[in-house]
Amino acid sequence: GAAAAAMHVAMLVTPGMGHLIPLAELAKRLAARHGVTSTLLTFASTASATQREFLASLPPAIESVSLPPVDLSDLPADAAIETLMSEECVRLVPALTAILSGIRERRRLVAFVADLFGADSFDAARDAGVPRRYLFFPTNLHALTLLLHLPDLDVSIPGEFRDLDEPVRLPGCVPIPGKDILMPLQDKSRACYGWMVHHGTRYRDADAILVNSFDAVEPDAARVLRHPKPGVPPVFPIGPLIQTHCAGDDDAAAPPSPRAACLDWLDRQPDRSVIFVSFGSGGALPTEHMRELALGLELSGQRFLWVVRSPSDEGEVSANYYDAETKKNPFGYLPEGFVERTKEVGLLVPSWAPQTKVLAHRATGGFLTHCGWNSVLESLVHGVPMVAWPLFAEQRQNAVMLTEGAGAAIRVPESKGKEKIAAVVREMMVGEGRGAAVRAKVAELQKMATDGLRDSGAATSALDEVVDKWTGGEK
Ligand code: UDP
Repeated sequence: GAAAAAMHVAMLVTPGMGHLIPLAELAKRLAARHGVTSTLLTFASTASATQREFLASLPPAIESVSLPPVDLSDLPADAAIETLMSEECVRLVPALTAILSGIRERRRLVAFVADLFGADSFDAARDAGVPRRYLFFPTNLHALTLLLHLPDLDVSIPGEFRDLDEPVRLPGCVPIPGKDILMPLQDKSRACYGWMVHHGTRYRDADAILVNSFDAVEPDAARVLRHPKPGVPPVFPIGPLIQTHCAGDDDAAAPPSPRAACLDWLDRQPDRSVIFVSFGSGGALPTEHMRELALGLELSGQRFLWVVRSPSDEGEVSANYYDAETKKNPFGYLPEGFVERTKEVGLLVPSWAPQTKVLAHRATGGFLTHCGWNSVLESLVHGVPMVAWPLFAEQRQNAVMLTEGAGAAIRVPESKGKEKIAAVVREMMVGEGRGAAVRAKVAELQKMATDGLRDSGAATSALDEVVDKWTGGEK
């Protein structure tokens, strides 16, 4: 009967592997620890091969449903990614209501979870009679604090953030210089700014907010959010939820593949000698920066494994976000002779590498990252210190938080010249000053991160507390 049926959760995943991966991990933890099954609801616009393979690899307790396609052709051609995702979500509400109602007929649907651009889908969950609505915030408590304060900041800061003389100071947060504030807030005349203010307001409709972070990496923000103001939902840091692997999803694969090849290459390198260079699932550099990075890596004298994408001035940044495969041969943009000169110390991989395996490898000693939050968490869990090279979204403020707050990274100077890049890479890998301090701090954070996920750890207890509320039956 219904009472004995497994509890079921529906999760709306807005586009990007960076949103899908942690939600899938949440679903895996719910299944493994609580026997809760899940349905991941994905956008039709993002049905990339990478995403399809990923969904197919999930355990049977996790189903996935692709939502119907949505027409966004009336939006301006230069609409920001945040605007596209938010609009798509609103337009999906009627279809989503029907889908959730259908799931409810067959399942004991105890909760609906939407990620950061999906709060408008709470309307669908309410109309379909789903008893609880949660926001899953895939980045950190600093970004969440900013969004929760945004409706107020919208009133108190009339001009642009980048013109502020003083950094933005929020409770429990490292002061963030205006130009490093969340990218979609940087031009208030754009629709994406209004959308973010809207989301900040709608987050208050959640029964609780689950955040993919952990106390040790931003302790003051965690302390403040543990006692939220009236009207702000309780916040549960349930991270770090990072990609784990199912048996048989890779190494055993018979045909030689680029992923196996780069791990083989790592096998032949000394311990902690390689810096992994990657800009997430959608990040790409302008051609000029890509060339300086190449020359900087060469100059640093360090070994490197670089996931290379075609430059962003080819117009692929947002296109890539919706599809991880790069369209053109990215190696053609590298400096003359670079590949030949560095072939003994460097390996270049087009488009995509098995990042968590690379970070877990004993030969990896550093990570030059765009500071996407999943990448940061994966780096910390594997004890890999970082060089911060933020690009977009909340990555610049993540870089500030990691360098000024947590002390887990060194940031590449804004000018991005090859000498400066080389100096920062060298310092982080082998330096005795700042580099040594960062390496020690990351080792400490690695321990805290993994302890939190143990049986009685903070992240596990936080999720237990959420799930305990469901077992009381449908409220
Ligand atoms: N990723 C990967 N291989 C790549 C690039 C990315 O496996 O070559 C994974 C990475 O491990 C992480 C996610 O894709 O889990 C990227 O998420 P993140 O938040 O770092 O950045 P985003 O892609 O959202 O910009």
